[in-house]
Amino acid sequence: VQAQLGNSFLWAFKDGPFKGNLHLVDDQEIELSNLQRYVLALQDGLARYKVEVMAEMFLSSRVKIIPHRCTWREFVQSFSLSEVGSVVSAVDSAETRIEIQAALPKTIFNGWTGNESLGVSRHTDFREDACLACLYLPSHEKPSYSQMVAEALNMADLERQIVRDYLANHKAIDRSLLNIIAERKTIPVENLLSFEGRLLPEFFTEAVCGSRIIQMQSVSGKVPSEVEVPLSFESALAGILLASEVVIDSMGGRADEIPSLTKINLLKPLSPYSTEIEDKHFSGACICQDEIFKRQYERKWR
Ligand SMILES: [Zn+2]
Repeated sequence: VQAQLGNSFLWAFKDGPFKGNLHLVDDQEIELSNLQRYVLALQDGLARYKVEVMAEMFLSSRVKIIPHRCTWREFVQSFSLSEVGSVVSAVDSAETRIEIQAALPKTIFNGWTGNESLGVSRHTDFREDACLACLYLPSHEKPSYSQMVAEALNMADLERQIVRDYLANHKAIDRSLLNIIAERKTIPVENLLSFEGRLLPEFFTEAVCGSRIIQMQSVSGKVPSEVEVPLSFESALAGILLASEVVIDSMGGRADEIPSLTKINLLKPLSPYSTEIEDKHFSGACICQDEIFKRQYERKWR
């Protein structure tokens, strides 16, 4: 569960006139660095599992929380989705969203925040409409490990001749490689000498991912690329939209079908045209375009 989005989703249900069971799946603890982002968590929830803190908070609510302290992947291994009506996705990774869709729940409601906008998407018919995976399939191929290493070392042009050679042949890092890295990263070669004789993957994990290089980089004036984090109120709004979706659905409150995607642009006035029809993935390679998955969905929910 993405911290704030999931939190405000629950907040909307806590004291309202609702009743029902809500299975909550999350494997993380509440951390101090995130505490200010949650609408529900308090200081005394620190270092405790989110699902347990939430279940306690709902003790006096008519909405009962059944906590599952695990990842989605672990959850679906031991729990049959046919016991639940719909799955609500409040996660922040494309990968987990695809995993959620791949478990073939009957219906999915998905809350999201993105660049300047936020919203919800509804996936009520896996066979006919765009599924959740359609919206999150990667649009380009993931770089290979050796491309990633080469990229991080500013050696993309040398990936084939040099980086692959060290990786594929388990070659120990020697002075000539260190000289190239030092030059490409504009750092003194002395800073890298401790890696001589070790393997490139170790160097990559410790020096690059462990950000020692990144620190050196910022000294030389380059800034590591920024990570985008939604503002707390953006996620909160998306969580509340998501909650309203679940309420509308369980009441059968929508007379007409509505397109799968609702999008609110935060930098513009609210538009009457906030919903969009989404097509199935253009590649034709999504699981909802696969005969085996489609048949399985039908078998499960007919
Ligand atoms: Zn799809």
